[in-house]
Amino acid sequence: MMTQIFLYDTTLRDGTQGEGISLSCTDKLKVAQRLDAFGVHYIEGGWPGSNPKDAEFFARQSELELKQAKIAAFGSTRYKNTTCAEDGNIQALLEANTPVITLVGKSWDLHVHHVLETDPEENLNMIQESVQYFKERGKEVIFDAEHFFDGYKVNPDYAMLTLKAAQQGGADCLVLCDTNGGATPWEVEEITRRVVTEFDETQVGIHAHNDCELGVANSLAGVRGGAAQVQGTINGYGERVGNANLISIIPDLQLKLGHQCVGDEQLATLTPLSRYVDELANMTPNGHQPFVGHSAFAHKGGIHVAAMLKVEESYQHMDPQLVGNEKRAVVSELSGRGNILYKANEFGLDASREDAKKVLEQIKELENQGYTFEGAEASVDIMLRRVDENYEPPFKVIDFMVITENRQGRGLFTEATVKVQIGDEIRHTVAEGNGPVNALNLALRRALHGHYPELTHLHLSDYKVRILDSDSGTAATTRVMIDFHQAGSGQIWTTVGAHTNIIEASWHALIDGVEYALLNGNR
Ligand SMILES: [Zn+2]
Repeated sequence: MMTQIFLYDTTLRDGTQGEGISLSCTDKLKVAQRLDAFGVHYIEGGWPGSNPKDAEFFARQSELELKQAKIAAFGSTRYKNTTCAEDGNIQALLEANTPVITLVGKSWDLHVHHVLETDPEENLNMIQESVQYFKERGKEVIFDAEHFFDGYKVNPDYAMLTLKAAQQGGADCLVLCDTNGGATPWEVEEITRRVVTEFDETQVGIHAHNDCELGVANSLAGVRGGAAQVQGTINGYGERVGNANLISIIPDLQLKLGHQCVGDEQLATLTPLSRYVDELANMTPNGHQPFVGHSAFAHKGGIHVAAMLKVEESYQHMDPQLVGNEKRAVVSELSGRGNILYKANEFGLDASREDAKKVLEQIKELENQGYTFEGAEASVDIMLRRVDENYEPPFKVIDFMVITENRQGRGLFTEATVKVQIGDEIRHTVAEGNGPVNALNLALRRALHGHYPELTHLHLSDYKVRILDSDSGTAATTRVMIDFHQAGSGQIWTTVGAHTNIIEASWHALIDGVEYALLNGNR
């Protein structure tokens, strides 16, 4: 049966408790805006009583233009033996001025006795009175039952009583939390089902952590048990190993279990959402992340790609466009001819089977020498062009020279000379640089600039060097990868070179990258 599942995002609260994750207040507002556009129903902004940055977020929430999401403020039930009116945390929650309040309370008697150090009866009062306090003030109240599964396993009667207290206080949703991340999907499904049966008038939610790598599985199990709200974070950020990952849960629920979370058009922006949040959080996107990773639909094995050329779905569990990702063929020594033809198609090049065979042989030979083409697709593009007998390159290199000297009085300096042919013209230029590759790049640009002024916008954005057979000492092979960036169009591409001479390796990567810019600049 297809049901609407409500998404509750806690990236801005539980997610930022992950080691290495930090978001400024402005970044948090940007994430909230994006989550709303994506179709998330609840956005937990933070814990107003805990730190000034979270308090600032709530003070600035009016800057948000939300279409449908509701902002929630998070905090705990009142302190023992006091009243809500006298409790600083409760008052901070009220001042956050949000439509939704999420209250976390204890449901495991061990915590009641040894962490809160109070009696079980007082904990029930704390839950009921806190929920009721906010209901009387017109709030939607979500009750997060902390350690619910652990508590249920040792004392189910008491765990259920804590939910009863929240329900009697008027809670709109009872969320079962696997706070320590130790529950298994079958426990979660069974226990959730019992709660849903006993509290059939109140919505039930699931909040899982990923300590046993079951965060996503437990969230799905909760839904199978009848939960209608799922809490999690973007990319699974969170304390320890992280929270349940909404980026996987959403397509699983919608595409595999047939529930409704967001609109189809919104689901097709899942990949950009994941990368956007990574970028703001200063995290490197995980290429192997399910659904949204750069490699999630990449095909490397020759047999796979050959089959994909015939039937697209033969080696894919779904159409990647449904989540805004794309399929890719990876070219390497493990490739077959199909990978090359597939790649040529991606580049918009016309390659014959014979051309593909030649390029494949070159790739196998070069990878044997230390090249790697997996991340250097621009070099593959150039190889595919060069294999065509009628190909006229935009320039030909006749020779180059580079010297590094340390002269008394002047110190260390480097100079490069480059001789290239463009059409019938030979150009011979020289440049100084802060190192040999820099000097070569400047001399080459100087030689080409008169004919190709568009190269002004070409930048080298990264230069990576790796020593391959390091036990050969100074005779080891060096692999160089260069990232290029075309200002204006925003295009980026990578080339590769490998040689025992680092300058030769760099030169190959440099020439490929510049040639690629001239051939693809106006694409
Ligand atoms: Zn949590």
